[in-house]
Amino acid sequence: ITFSGQAEHSVVTTCAYCGVGCSFKAEMKGSQVVRMTPHKNGQANEGHACVKGRFAWGYATHKDRITKPMIRAKITDPWREVTWEEAIAYAASEFRRVQAKYGRDSVGGITSSRCTNEETYLVQKLVRAAFGNNNVDTCARVCHSPTGYGLKTTIGESAGTQTFASVEHADVIMVIGANPTDGHPVFGSRLKRRLREGAKLIVADPRRIDLVDGPHVKAAFHLQLRPGTNVALVNALAHTIVTEGLLNEAFIAERCEPLAFEQWRAFVSQPENSPEATAEITGVPAEQVREAARLYATGGNAAIYYGLGVTEHAQGSTMVMGIANLAMATGNIGREGVGVNPLRGQNNVQGSCDMGSFPHELPGYRHIGGDEVRHQFEAAWGVTLQPEPGLRIPNMFDAALDGSFKGLYCQGEDIVQSDPDTQHVAAALTSMECIVVQDIFLNETAKYAHVFLPGSSFLEKDGTFTNAERRISRVRRVMPPLPGYADWEVTSMLARALGYEMDYAHPSEIMDEIARLTPTFHGVSYALLDRLGSVQWPCNEEAPEGTPTMHVDEFVRGKGKFVITQFVASREKVTRRYPLLLTTGRILSQYNVGAQTRRTENSRWHEEDQLEIHPHDAQDRGIKTGDWVGIESRAGQTVLRALVSERMQPGVVYTTFHFPESGANVITTDSSDWATNCPEYKVTAVQVQPVQQP
Ligand code: SF4
Repeated sequence: ITFSGQAEHSVVTTCAYCGVGCSFKAEMKGSQVVRMTPHKNGQANEGHACVKGRFAWGYATHKDRITKPMIRAKITDPWREVTWEEAIAYAASEFRRVQAKYGRDSVGGITSSRCTNEETYLVQKLVRAAFGNNNVDTCARVCHSPTGYGLKTTIGESAGTQTFASVEHADVIMVIGANPTDGHPVFGSRLKRRLREGAKLIVADPRRIDLVDGPHVKAAFHLQLRPGTNVALVNALAHTIVTEGLLNEAFIAERCEPLAFEQWRAFVSQPENSPEATAEITGVPAEQVREAARLYATGGNAAIYYGLGVTEHAQGSTMVMGIANLAMATGNIGREGVGVNPLRGQNNVQGSCDMGSFPHELPGYRHIGGDEVRHQFEAAWGVTLQPEPGLRIPNMFDAALDGSFKGLYCQGEDIVQSDPDTQHVAAALTSMECIVVQDIFLNETAKYAHVFLPGSSFLEKDGTFTNAERRISRVRRVMPPLPGYADWEVTSMLARALGYEMDYAHPSEIMDEIARLTPTFHGVSYALLDRLGSVQWPCNEEAPEGTPTMHVDEFVRGKGKFVITQFVASREKVTRRYPLLLTTGRILSQYNVGAQTRRTENSRWHEEDQLEIHPHDAQDRGIKTGDWVGIESRAGQTVLRALVSERMQPGVVYTTFHFPESGANVITTDSSDWATNCPEYKVTAVQVQPVQQP
């Protein structure tokens, strides 16, 4: 591959980083990529791009790529390169050996939001049809699983309600627990453009993110709450709306369940939910909360955008429902310029969830226990499916330590670096007998693997990604897979070796099967995507060209359902031993565990994780910017370099998690969302002290 020179032709494909899903032209010279140019006709990005999509694609041919399958009997043995036939046969025989010894349910699989819809569909199909259980989960477990639970419960669908373009019709924009400037840059620019046109901004975030007072934008309100108090804040906003007569009574009467609404109204009206009473908990002055609530309820079209600062909490699902309550209470849902919009992290979080990568749901979010839908899949797949939900990722780890879960197929996901409480994850993996890792690099998880199946990058395969606005876009192969096979082909080979026939000539055939079996995808095909450029689901007989705005005349579940959102304090509390709260996030130039961006020129801009700390806390400890500091929680400890910053509030520190050396997840704990087990990455009680350079 070369990175400069004249292009001879180009191929339109989709960025493999964040949930904005920008469209790019891969400009080619022969079979070599010369550059990635944002596509002017891209419906999610309209010709814009950020530094990741534009420049951070060279990892695809980085020297660290593993292109030969490898096996080893024990994780202390050296890897041995083998043929694809031998690797697949060994993996299949080990899975069958484990199942024969420990039972059908002793193995499972993890799908990746980095992979295509077609690939995640095949992994969950392999687990259900070839392993014969429902032990399949996705990395969305650790990011947006509360979005699925919270939005399905309140409005009936596990997805954002709007297009990105809808923000151009918003008069008030509330950003809760998200930092679009760094996390979703192209959408962040669109949002800022609307702010420059006059829309008002409310930011709810423990940290003073760029949007609060960045170049050319200034938030009307920054509700700088303490980590872990989102639900108290949303209840205080709701209390103000209810008690000051700001409800949209007509919308509620027409669109929502009356009994649930009355119960919710009585709940949020209670004095303990008032801004004055909750100020003690959240740290946000009551009058600021009241004024922000008034602006949201009466300022015209009001749209909420939220991120992992909402979901990655012990009350993540509760908070998602609290946000939906606010939108329903004010009628800010079901048309352009409003809505409830989760900003999905990885490129295909939405898609991996849509494709049935959850232990309790088949593709299209239909419960595995439903006889009709399960029988439909049984008929199509020619197998009997188990009606009981399988294990979630954290349950797999617990079962491994109990001795009942012994085999894992992990595609495109580095659970050792990305999941919380690294020591617990490592102990669980060490206790398993057959771990098959499929990835483009020998990642941290591969250290515990017995079989390594080389993966393919987004440049090496056909398929589709689904972005945060439900937009399905084509991923197109621009070069042959370096290992010889694309990921979807490898999964098919493994299924066949396990005795279950999977025979697809091209990913378009997989999509055709998905469309046949999934009502929200009935109209989707590669031909349609080629014709329209992309399409937002639901795309079916009623909406042959897709659905930009959902819940227009009625909610997907019929009537909207208000849910009582009782605040429960986080288990993570500051103590004398751990007097600070740690929260985590991302930076613009790097991406998640950094496996891709660390192997590109982007590392010039940000080459290590840092610990941001308020000047008061730094001064108390004798810490200056650039000093090495030790950070310790009840889960573990690590060492980082300090960055003294007034972005932080006193008592709160912050770091990114892009580099394995700093290992932020060594510190995060096993605390998780009550409904979905999404880890509470955003609240960890810690101590910080200066240390010598490690
Ligand atoms: Fe890729 Fe997201 Fe950047 Fe767009 S905004 S180029 S999808 S990383």
